[in-house]
Amino acid sequence: MSQQTVAVLGLGNMGGPMAANLVAAGYRVVGFDPAPTANETAVARGVEVKTSPVLAVAEASVVITMLPSGGHVIDAYKGPDGILAAAAPGTVFIDCSTIAVEDARAAAELAHEAGHRALDAPVSGGVGGAEAGTLTLMIGGSEVDLDAVRPVLDVVAGRLVHCGDSGAGQAAKICNNMILGISMLAVSEAFVLGESLGLSHQALFDVASTASGQCWALTTNCPVPGPVPTSPANRDYRPGFASPLMSKDLTLAMQAADSTGTEVRVGAVAAAIYRDFAFGSGRDLDFSGVVQDIRDRSQSGV
Ligand code: NAD
Repeated sequence: MSQQTVAVLGLGNMGGPMAANLVAAGYRVVGFDPAPTANETAVARGVEVKTSPVLAVAEASVVITMLPSGGHVIDAYKGPDGILAAAAPGTVFIDCSTIAVEDARAAAELAHEAGHRALDAPVSGGVGGAEAGTLTLMIGGSEVDLDAVRPVLDVVAGRLVHCGDSGAGQAAKICNNMILGISMLAVSEAFVLGESLGLSHQALFDVASTASGQCWALTTNCPVPGPVPTSPANRDYRPGFASPLMSKDLTLAMQAADSTGTEVRVGAVAAAIYRDFAFGSGRDLDFSGVVQDIRDRSQSGV
């Protein structure tokens, strides 16, 4: 059987290791990224880097995009110089970026109009999951299109969840991350309140981790050092999941809430807190570092 060619556009923190895992699994991987450093790393890991996205997709039957935003995806897709026009008919376009539900639906529509197949497949699991090939992929699109690329996706994913039609993967991603952002703030506020009351971190952890306060933000990504030795709090809040990415996902969730008229009062507060944190002291920190901001504000009476 001839080797299948997969194009990966966006060879950054996530797309780079995903492309490398596809190479390791025996696929021919062609890639494109405007950033020279991303390309150099990808070449060292066996990716054939092209000088334009159009050249990358021309030889591929599957195209994975892993880009910063919905605007990047739509811009890359459309127009006479876009990748949809350059690809062979019936190519499967898989967008793994985190983008707005509306953008995901628009991207899939553009792909279908151009005679291609399309899935939205945002990921969770971070850079560690991308390196290990254990990401969770949330899929929107048809079951038939998903089945056509399951072997490719199985290389980068530990788990695939088919969530529904186009956009459903992105919907699942932002709903999940809204839970995560809110729960991290709840856990962080509880630790700081506990500190004010003279309660040790370990005592609160021992109670809440086996009681009704139990959640991933507490038991895996614990925002204070000590109780969970692998959490970012034990390495000066080095990400992990960087706070600008949490802010981005909460902004997408608020956009979706606005466009659907959904009341998300707690989500809106979380989005505002993470916006301030991500553009301020938390710019380079894991999102659990917000606990320090809560503590500082408590001590200064802000
Ligand atoms: P990144 O900034 O490291 O990588 C994005 C890459 O896209 C960059 O190398 C950039 O040069 C490249 N790029 C920009 N425009 C391009 C174009 N037109 N064609 C090809 N490449 C282009 O970002 P990342 O951390 O890899 O994140 C990528 C996506 O994954 C984002 O949507 C992000 O929200 C999502 N995501 C990231 C994480 C994480 O932990 N980093 C986790 C889950 C989801």
